[in-house]
Amino acid sequence: MKRRHDRIIVAGGGPVGAVAALILAQQGIPVTVLERGEGVTLDYRASTIHPPTLDLLEKCGAAQAMVEMGLICPIMQYRDRRRGKIAEFDLTCLKNDTRHPYRLQCEQFKLVGWAYPRLQEIPGVELLFGHDVINVEQSEDEIVVTAATRDGERQFKGDFLIAADGGRSTVRKLLDIDFEGFTYPEHFLVAGTRYDFKQQMPDICSVNYTADPDEWYLLLEIPDMWRIIMPVEPLIEPDDAMQEKYLQATLHNLLPRPEPYEIVVKAIYRVSQRVAANYGGPRVFLAGDAAHINNPLGGMGLNGGLHDALSLTDRLARVWHGTADERLLAGYEKQRKPEAVNAINAMTQRNKRLLEERDPEIRDRMLAEWARIAADPALTYEHLLETSMITSLRRSGMLP
Ligand SMILES: Cc1cc2nc3c(=O)[nH]c(=O)nc-3n(C[C@H](O)[C@H](O)[C@H](O)COP(=O)(O)OP(=O)(O)OC[C@H]3O[C@@H](n4cnc5c(N)ncnc54)[C@H](O)[C@@H]3O)c2cc1C
Repeated sequence: MKRRHDRIIVAGGGPVGAVAALILAQQGIPVTVLERGEGVTLDYRASTIHPPTLDLLEKCGAAQAMVEMGLICPIMQYRDRRRGKIAEFDLTCLKNDTRHPYRLQCEQFKLVGWAYPRLQEIPGVELLFGHDVINVEQSEDEIVVTAATRDGERQFKGDFLIAADGGRSTVRKLLDIDFEGFTYPEHFLVAGTRYDFKQQMPDICSVNYTADPDEWYLLLEIPDMWRIIMPVEPLIEPDDAMQEKYLQATLHNLLPRPEPYEIVVKAIYRVSQRVAANYGGPRVFLAGDAAHINNPLGGMGLNGGLHDALSLTDRLARVWHGTADERLLAGYEKQRKPEAVNAINAMTQRNKRLLEERDPEIRDRMLAEWARIAADPALTYEHLLETSMITSLRRSGMLP
């Protein structure tokens, strides 16, 4: 494939764009990252990183950095709001399948904050903040990207473009690629508190999925706080749900205590299940949330996005260095889109259905099934291979 500019452009310096750029730059490929924001965004979405993602990120150094910054959580629980602990799983049983047999809790902004300075010290890298991508033209031998900056519009020319500009991807819209799926009517609230829930709930572990027909929740311990993710009814305005009074009432409803909770983080998100109709090509490729978005139950969106980045950069680097021809790039969508549909989207939708199930009979069956899986080592092993995304990566050929 002809190269006119000797440069790959990355639209969006979120976790997927930053890691993709770093992997390319570490292989001697000049990269320009165009990021709309003015630096690291304090983004309270992803914190769960799965075992094989860490295995695959060792090569670029990100795994070791995240392990240092994060909290290692080998145990996870499925709970019921009224009945308490239903099933407990120990990821150490994956020790022969991964070098990281645990979930790591490390917020996505820490990964971005680690990647930016590494990028900036590699010759040939441009990391440009305040650059909002507004147009893309793709021709046979180049791509031309226009970014709006505070000093006016600027044009950037390159050989390939990675669109890692998030769920509302401008690039995906400019390419007129459908984003097929649906948006949930309720919002998802994230609240972080320094209160240690283990004081009053001694049997919980660091990762707890709690089912309830009215108000399921996810309780996660992260390095310096506990994080709660729960739905907010569609009738409640997102701004109202972010008020201290609502947040206190919600947390006290979850676990009453005499004192108010110290709430140090709050955010509210609209959540969708969507996958792009195609992943682009021949010179522009979607990755991460630009290609697929899903609910956070199972912690798969960013993990899947990082798997996209790993697949795409490996292909681009091989084509770039002449060890493979451009047909390798067509394999990117073939490898990654089925996993977005059949693994990431399917599993996260299933997780939400299970947590919020209202039919008492189905609920009983589901809770009994969780307990059955946890009591049987062979079923536990299969379950953990699937929920930690090892099965998906093996099926797609990204892991042996
Ligand atoms: C409540 C919640 C919890 C979650 N928890 C998890 C979890 O535990 N584990 C997990 O795997 N996933 C989780 N996710 C999903 C995860 O947050 C996303 O999948 C992840 O942020 C995707 O990364 P990205 O880099 O593709 O996109 P983003 O993080 O959205 O980054 C996109 C970047 O592009 C920039 N940008 C956007 N438009 C432009 C433009 N036109 N020009 C230039 N720059 C642009 C943005 O400023 C941003 O920096 C969660 C999601 C939610 C809502």
